[in-house]
Amino acid sequence: MVQAYRMHIGGEWVGGDGYFNDLNPATGQVMARFPAGSAGDVDRAVDAAEGALKSWSETPPPKRGRILQRTADILRKEKERLGTLVATEMGKVMPEALGDVQEAIDVFEYFAGEGRRLFGNTTTSELKGKFAMTVRRPVGVMGLITPWNFPIAIPAWKLSAALVCGNTAVFKPSSDTPLCAYELVRILLRAGVPDGVVNLVTGSAADVGEAIVRHRRVGGISFTGSKATGEWITKNAGLKKVGLELGGKNPVIVMDDADLGLAVEGIIWGAFGTTGQRCTAASRVIAHRAIRKKLVAELVRRAERLRLGPGVAKTTDVGPLINMAAVEKTEGYVDIGRKEGAKLVCGGKRPPGRGFFYRPTIFDDADRGMRIAREEIFGPVLSVLECGGLDDAIDIANSVEYGLSSSIYTRDVNSALRAISGIEAGITYVNASTIGAEVHLPFGGVKATGHTREAGITGIDEFSHLKTVYIDYSGKLQKAQIDAGE
Ligand code: NAP
Repeated sequence: MVQAYRMHIGGEWVGGDGYFNDLNPATGQVMARFPAGSAGDVDRAVDAAEGALKSWSETPPPKRGRILQRTADILRKEKERLGTLVATEMGKVMPEALGDVQEAIDVFEYFAGEGRRLFGNTTTSELKGKFAMTVRRPVGVMGLITPWNFPIAIPAWKLSAALVCGNTAVFKPSSDTPLCAYELVRILLRAGVPDGVVNLVTGSAADVGEAIVRHRRVGGISFTGSKATGEWITKNAGLKKVGLELGGKNPVIVMDDADLGLAVEGIIWGAFGTTGQRCTAASRVIAHRAIRKKLVAELVRRAERLRLGPGVAKTTDVGPLINMAAVEKTEGYVDIGRKEGAKLVCGGKRPPGRGFFYRPTIFDDADRGMRIAREEIFGPVLSVLECGGLDDAIDIANSVEYGLSSSIYTRDVNSALRAISGIEAGITYVNASTIGAEVHLPFGGVKATGHTREAGITGIDEFSHLKTVYIDYSGKLQKAQIDAGE
């Protein structure tokens, strides 16, 4: 018997008029059922969030921080159970699933500390007897819309920063991973988040997501997902504060002086970890012509050895894709790559059996004009392109519309620094793969990836406004620019 779960609105667990299935991607079987929420549910959730806003935003930030710390403590105690849930519902392998939970622990701890900072600035005034500073104010009711690929960590990034800043939230998780979201919300409630502060509304993009984006009393949207959805939100959110963390087509440059063994390790991890379903996944290798053949041969040897299986199995290196649509999308791109004339050197097919699996796939001889080398596939497909030198490599790296993560393998400090300044991306790694963000550093991209910077100290900017305050203690009318003189 499959359990039917509930949404959380205004402190109550509520059902829906209809329900949708939550599938285990390794088997295709239904593992849970969730309410198919409606625009009416969103409206009730916004009412509840608005009702809770005054009290929550007036709660001293260190007290809000303590609730976040308790959330981190519970997550830590339940890490194994939650990791197993992530591996089952989303499909990533256990070490990565535990990493997903660890990232949530880290970010709740990080933003718990922010409760005792939330710094503004003090500065000078051009007039005598006048004091000037900035203070942080919450945005209000925030709509948080998340994808499935980090089903605990991404909601945790948003909820931790939103809550410490004094916002209340209407949270719509991906319809592929509602159970992870449900468990996270339960933990927040156990940690002491008051009724109405976090409202969980499950359901489709059309019925729930769009209603949140368009809602007149939602003050801000924090969205992580595809470029297409990000563009839709930009057009439909009106004048809300909008944060967008979108896709990537992340390059790894391998120079002729690189430690090839290290580069191979990093590329395999970056391209096929999480089955290529990371926004920061290494999806392009830009290899110096002097080492390309050797590099590709070693990548193929390593990729062919990767074992597919359920995320929860100890022997699995690569888990399933999230759903059948993702398998078909990957398959479609492999066909495109073949037709475009790239050379398929590894994978390129589904394994037999049930579940949403696809073999790690490598195309050699790809070209910057090809769709497989420009568009986000979000599956285990790596394209290798050849470059003649560093300028050429940077040029190829920058030839796509995205700009999230990037990497260079080289032993030459000058090449590393030229890549850091030349690559158009929010993140550049040197002698490490394109994945592996740490929560105390800003995370985000440029160009079509969006320009948001979550996590780290800049995460606070996404979930608060800076209010500028002038205090005139001169006892007389003073006019800026007019009385200040030259
Ligand atoms: P998606 O299709 O854009 O969906 C993301 C979330 O938005 C889901 O909750 C989805 O609901 C909802 N949604 C879809 N259309 C909507 C609309 N018109 N209005 C409001 N909500 C809407 O993306 P995805 O396939 O889940 O995630 C993969 C994408 O996320 C990739 O492009 C990846 O690169 C990107 N990503 C980016 C980052 C980053 O930090 N830059 C991190 C992780 C992932 P349903 O699930 O109900 O459809």
